Amino acid sequence: MHEMALMGDILQLIEKDARSRNMEKIEKVELIVGDLSNALPDALEMAFTIFRARGLALLSEQSELVIKKEAARAKCTVCGFEYNPDARLSICPKCSLPSGILTAGETFKVQSYEGS
Ligand SMILES: [Zn+2]
Repeated sequence: MHEMALMGDILQLIEKDARSRNMEKIEKVELIVGDLSNALPDALEMAFTIFRARGLALLSEQSELVIKKEAARAKCTVCGFEYNPDARLSICPKCSLPSGILTAGETFKVQSYEGS
């Protein structure tokens, strides 16, 4: 489960930033996770719960994780048609060429966090 490592990295970065701002606790972490980003929201939630239970990275029982999903989108480089692909490489539903390039859905980032 690489989400455990991912979440560990995220929390470490946030903790460092929070400490540099003299914060003592982290109340909320907001992530954006693309449908094709290789990270599973459920596994991220579980990892967060484990870190929170251990009280790591300035987390407490009240700390909350919010995951915003980003839908996958692709645009055909031949005909310009935009659609929702189900994989990184996809066939354009309009012209049937394998010419779709992803325009969204691979994002994996920390949108924001709140602390005090
Ligand atoms: Zn096309």
